[in-house]
Amino acid sequence: MTGPSSSRPSPFSDRSRGVVFVGAGPGDPALLTVRAVECLRRADVVVHDTLVPDRVLDLIGPDARRLPAPREGRDAGTDPGAATGRLLAELAAGGDCVVRLKGGDPGVFGRLAEEIAPLRDAGVPVEIVPGVTAATAAAAAAGIPLTSRSAASSLTILTGHEAVDKTGGIDFASLAALPGTLAIYMGVEQVDRWSRGLLAAGRGPLTPVTIVSHCSWPDQRIATSTLAACAADFERHNWSTPAVVIVGEVAQTSEPGRTPAGPLVGRRVLVTRPEGQGDDLHDRILAAGGSCLHVPAIRIGPPPSWDPLDRAILAADTFDWIVFASVNGVRGFVDRLRAQGRDGRALGTVRLAAIGPATRRELERAGFVCDLTPSVHRSEGIVASLADRQPAAGRFLLVRANRGRDLMRRELEARGHFVSEVPAYSSEPVESLDEASARAVDRPPVDWLVLTSSFNAESSLRLFGQRVARWRIASISPVTSATLRGLGVEPTVEAAAAEMESLVAAIAAWERDRSGPG
Ligand code: SAH
Repeated sequence: MTGPSSSRPSPFSDRSRGVVFVGAGPGDPALLTVRAVECLRRADVVVHDTLVPDRVLDLIGPDARRLPAPREGRDAGTDPGAATGRLLAELAAGGDCVVRLKGGDPGVFGRLAEEIAPLRDAGVPVEIVPGVTAATAAAAAAGIPLTSRSAASSLTILTGHEAVDKTGGIDFASLAALPGTLAIYMGVEQVDRWSRGLLAAGRGPLTPVTIVSHCSWPDQRIATSTLAACAADFERHNWSTPAVVIVGEVAQTSEPGRTPAGPLVGRRVLVTRPEGQGDDLHDRILAAGGSCLHVPAIRIGPPPSWDPLDRAILAADTFDWIVFASVNGVRGFVDRLRAQGRDGRALGTVRLAAIGPATRRELERAGFVCDLTPSVHRSEGIVASLADRQPAAGRFLLVRANRGRDLMRRELEARGHFVSEVPAYSSEPVESLDEASARAVDRPPVDWLVLTSSFNAESSLRLFGQRVARWRIASISPVTSATLRGLGVEPTVEAAAAEMESLVAAIAAWERDRSGPG
């Protein structure tokens, strides 16, 4: 018996070059494997599916070439799998580290065999990095298992397209006889065929069906139906692809079956905070019954130089206070502290202040005690609170973005304090909308745009242009509202206090007023 050999030469190892087939997952870069990210960073050239979103392509190293994979040629006889395989073989022959980036898992409906054949013929080393396939991503998004001890002892992955393939086709009788779950890829167009086929073969009309479209994209949609009703349901709601359908008793537990309640029911709220930072707002919008769309208008990156922060960390114990102006500031600071091989002891007796509760939580998560969070969560608030705690002239380190308001430094200096300001990250506006995000904000329509800072407001207005005129605007604070007015946009509501809870409450109050008494 021959087992898989662990000594197989791997492309991207020191000496050999070759092709790595990398699973890109369903779309959200957070669902990539660590190995996938490593390969994207090291590749000389990346041949990618057109469906892979920009957010994943952004992880490719800056010097690498990017080539979209050949698609179905005009000539009907062209096999895009074989054409891609030949392209990969040519690129590898040139001595490059080649990544073939494929949506989901490379081995699931990905023409992997056709693409690999020319590489095997040419003796090119090949590695396959698995990815999160649409079925598991969709089940997770819908909150359902794919197998269960009581209701589903098998999982069958099939393509809905085969329903029209005259030569092969789906063996409905065998499928209907299996007491398991079906995950149907490419199934939306042919829903009528496969649902009727399964019903005719004896699968129950009330068998639950869950559909997840654009899974893990900003415009992800989830709905439930039954085998008998799904064809009409999908047609009525105009489901767009890509979508995956899960058929079987497991779909019974799908979360969207719950009836939403709350002041924001039926309202779609657009959040434009940076990647990884919309969660608290997202949770509150969902809790109020609304749905949330997250399209970042701001991108967080490293500061122009780490030197000022590194030097400040080395001298951390010479300060009286370190003030963190944001969650990203805490993350940048803690990362650099660790990169220097140091920990909290490096800070000595210095006291730590956070501008608001989220920043405080981030400090606590990193193992620090936060000595001060002002009751007014803005620069003005923290200066007033610090004045009470530090009456004599003190030394302050402000950890912040590469841009933002200068107010805190000026106010502290005016009170006779020494202030050193260091950038721990950069925040840049996202310049253009990718295709998926543009579609997501246009259909179904957005009701509210939530703006959580002046910079967030400026970047969002630039990114969404004319669209903003159609949306209601919720502003976090008077400062953000003033920025909006300066740009000719009147906020619909403003939060009573500069925090997420208050922001969602303002939207809810407006919606309640609008729905009238009772
Ligand atoms: N290799 C991919 C599948 C490619 S076939 C994988 O493992 O996921 C393309 C089909 O996959 C689509 O028609 C759709 O059924 C499914 N699919 C891919 N990405 C999806 C996504 N983000 N959401 C829902 N379905 C998706």
